[in-house]
Amino acid sequence: MSNVISKEVACPNCNEIFSVHVYTSINATNDPQFREDLLSEKLLKWKCENCSYEGRFTYPLLYNDMKRRFMVYLIPQIERFQLEDRSLEDEYRNLKGITKRITPDFNSFKEKVFIFESGLDDMAVELSKLAVSETVAKKHNLPKVEEGYLSMYNRETNTMGFTFFVGESHEPYVQSARLEVYARSVQIVNAVGQNDKKLSGFIKIDREWAENTLFRYKREENK
Ligand SMILES: [Zn+2]
Repeated sequence: MSNVISKEVACPNCNEIFSVHVYTSINATNDPQFREDLLSEKLLKWKCENCSYEGRFTYPLLYNDMKRRFMVYLIPQIERFQLEDRSLEDEYRNLKGITKRITPDFNSFKEKVFIFESGLDDMAVELSKLAVSETVAKKHNLPKVEEGYLSMYNRETNTMGFTFFVGESHEPYVQSARLEVYARSVQIVNAVGQNDKKLSGFIKIDREWAENTLFRYKREENK
């Protein structure tokens, strides 16, 4: 079930107080229209009835795709790596083998949905992205390029593409790579990422995780 609540919002522009619908959970399997409206960001926006000011919600939102067996919990600015939510675990304990992630912002949330809908492993995607970001940084003569998202995946042409935001101006730059990079990343996950796969609760798989995992992998290799 998707869950919607009513909330009072004070417009930061004209101070008018009015009531809006806030979605706290989305069930993508039963309510595909909500999936559409969320990914297009329609569900996250509100408009003041008085002055037409447009605002954006920053509430935690749980996304559940039962068919593809993944859940993504968008919790704005969350910093922790792991979140164990007793009531959620109890509610969904009959569903074994579900991939559960937390993300701190909408872009990474959207990327997770794209990754899992494409049937990919997000750990391997993060490692691939880290490798490809080094190529992009070199091309732009930068020490590193940190922000980027998987934006294309095509098995037939054997390519995947990442959109990076480069430099101080955050210019979008698309870099494609062959799927061998991903296959290599899957090997790394198989070698050193298995414990993370067994963790309970929701976990954050991001660039920081990829850097730590790669470090562990290299250390193991040099033993
Ligand atoms: Zn207003």
